[in-house]
Amino acid sequence: MNRVDYLRISLIERCNFRCQYCMPEGAELDYVLRQELLTHEEIIILLKEVFIPLGFSKFRLTGGEPLLRPGIVDLVQDIASLSATEDLSMTTNGFLLSTFAEDLYKAGLKRINISLDSLNPETFKTIVGHKKADIWHKTWGGIQTAYEVGFNPLKLNIVVIPGVNESEIEDLAELSINKNWHIRFIEFMPIGNAELFSDRTWVPSEEIREKIKQKWGLIESNIKGNGPADVFKIPGAKGTLGFISQMSECFCDRCNRMRLSADGWLRPCLLNETGQINLKNLLRNNATTIDIKEKVAHLLALKPEINYKERESGNDTGIYNRTMSQIGG
Ligand code: SAM
Ligand code: SF4
Repeated sequence: MNRVDYLRISLIERCNFRCQYCMPEGAELDYVLRQELLTHEEIIILLKEVFIPLGFSKFRLTGGEPLLRPGIVDLVQDIASLSATEDLSMTTNGFLLSTFAEDLYKAGLKRINISLDSLNPETFKTIVGHKKADIWHKTWGGIQTAYEVGFNPLKLNIVVIPGVNESEIEDLAELSINKNWHIRFIEFMPIGNAELFSDRTWVPSEEIREKIKQKWGLIESNIKGNGPADVFKIPGAKGTLGFISQMSECFCDRCNRMRLSADGWLRPCLLNETGQINLKNLLRNNATTIDIKEKVAHLLALKPEINYKERESGNDTGIYNRTMSQIGG
């Protein structure tokens, strides 16, 4: 059985973008109220007294958009300074990175993943559902700042959408040639966006690899991350190319993670809600952290069965109602 030592912590459900695949137009999103969010102190108590004693040592901060969380730099600093923290990373849309990158780096954030689905400012605006003219340039500026302050390597996440950014696969892959950037292509998932999900709304990783191979050739890379990506590189390139194929491949048996939502739900599997428990409610109803730890340990023991639940029931192309921004992607 895979060791589960990686917790993805969503800090906020809200976002300053509204990406087509994450918050589809017209979708009614009930944001949690500020008082329903796990507080800074609650997050630290849960890490210190529940997750770390259970063997968790790798933490990723996500959302919604984690840089919208008030006090984000202090929170990074407090998590980074826990002696058991082996790895602390963040997934962000990059829009506010020019402001935050240096402080985050100094506070102890080690790694950063930035979502950048297009190099074309107009396509980018369409994907992220934003009308502002300079949105792409501000995001691109944030990426450069992050690289300059020391996030090296940095990772760029790309969700490939047919007919929208599919034609940019080679241009995006090319970013890995001259800089030590890890470009990761993610298959689009039918999470909270059922109406977008028709016959061909995702492009298989194999097809993406083939396009890149035709242009430059592709070799397997010996640099592997913590996650489910299959890693390759263009011969001679400084960076790598990762492929996350959750639609065309089942990697549930490699799953090493749990997800904690901004309002305290601990979820063992991205694709189903079986077994999830609300740790914030437990804390606020005076459960001791010893009790909470027991409950989480129990859920960890059930995780291998829960992982396969949806896939085995034939529901792996089914409809999942909560969006990635609500679950904490
Ligand atoms: N706002 C941050 C960002 O965009 O990087 C962090 C949260 S976002 C939910 C985390 C990741 O989930 C992003 O890389 C995004 O592209 C990915 N994502 C969101 N919805 C998705 C979907 N339906 N299928 C595949 N990836 C998705
Ligand atoms: Fe916001 Fe990230 Fe979702 Fe885009 S993918 S809407 S940036 S949370």
